[in-house]
Amino acid sequence: MVGSVRNVKKLPDVVELAQDLVRFSTVLGENERTVLEYLAGPLEDAGFACSFDAYDEHSPQRASLIARLRPEDDVPSLYLGGHIDTVPFGNAAWRYDPLGGVVEDGRLYGRGACDMKGGVAALVRAALDFALESRENGRKRDLVLHIYGGEEGGCFGSRRAAQRPELFGKPGAGIVAEPSSLMPLSGHKGALWLTLRTTGRTAHASMPDKGDNALLSMLRAAARLANFHPDAPHNLLGDATAALTSLHSGLNSNSIPDKAELTLDMRTVPGAAHADLVRRVAETAGPDVRIEVVYDAPAVWTDPDLPWSVRVRELTCAITGDAPAVRCANFFTDAASVRAVFPDLPLCILGPGDPALAHATDEFCPVEQIRAARRIYAALITDWYAERG
Ligand SMILES: [Zn+2]
Repeated sequence: MVGSVRNVKKLPDVVELAQDLVRFSTVLGENERTVLEYLAGPLEDAGFACSFDAYDEHSPQRASLIARLRPEDDVPSLYLGGHIDTVPFGNAAWRYDPLGGVVEDGRLYGRGACDMKGGVAALVRAALDFALESRENGRKRDLVLHIYGGEEGGCFGSRRAAQRPELFGKPGAGIVAEPSSLMPLSGHKGALWLTLRTTGRTAHASMPDKGDNALLSMLRAAARLANFHPDAPHNLLGDATAALTSLHSGLNSNSIPDKAELTLDMRTVPGAAHADLVRRVAETAGPDVRIEVVYDAPAVWTDPDLPWSVRVRELTCAITGDAPAVRCANFFTDAASVRAVFPDLPLCILGPGDPALAHATDEFCPVEQIRAARRIYAALITDWYAERG
């Protein structure tokens, strides 16, 4: 479909598009492919080459959308990223239907309104604007838009896409549209999740010396790890942390447990070598403990003094009226998957919605922020390509 452009229907209003996205349930990845096909329609009409990256062979609905405006172009492109899946509604009653897409008092309510269907709608609309403008002025630059599935629970879609770096083309900088109240964020911590296991020999609990207690071995290891300190703090991201988060062992009261499992969640700062951390955890835990790396995502950090970073703050604040400031996120995002393959790519996290409302009951996104996000992304895209012909 590259290069050919179908008749373009009236472009969707960005808030109506966000409402439509909220009305598709994408809780934990359901309907992912259906809603991504819905987005691919107007993108293809505007000239984007769209493909779907299936990331779970057991579930054909689970996919990411890869849209490229000019894949053959080799001038560094701007990469735009978001995700379409949401967390469940939770147990508390909602005042607004979580799938209603209702706008009231200037707020779009619903699961995913903030995290991050408002941001996805703004990205898609800004990408459509750029495609149509490129057609009018004969510009032949690539613009790379990835909408991932499976972000909640472990960035599955973006991790799969990152295994095929060619899907990103030649990015020169990237924006991930997670909610940031429209403040450009320079990065976030990395995550390293480990599962530690000990094994022993079961025996009747009345004769503990006949067995080998895997729980006791694990408790000794856990005590040694209680004060494990991953790294020196980062000046903006703060402390690297390590937390023991779950312990499972034993089947009943009167048997010596023959296995135990402990999970360790570490949040790391830029520059932390995760392989070294795993080695240090292994040394601290001791020789009886086996370690499995369950999730490994590097910290994301982009020098806030880079000319592009400064420009992003200027252009954004010109629209929002905020004072430019260097800030970072305290959650992690798909940007970590991108960072894993493009270690030096300037990345910025910037999207509509208050991150504190992500995953909350009666989640909402101010519609003015969705409209402003579209204008900000459009300004950043235009600015990026202005220098590149
Ligand atoms: Zn999110």
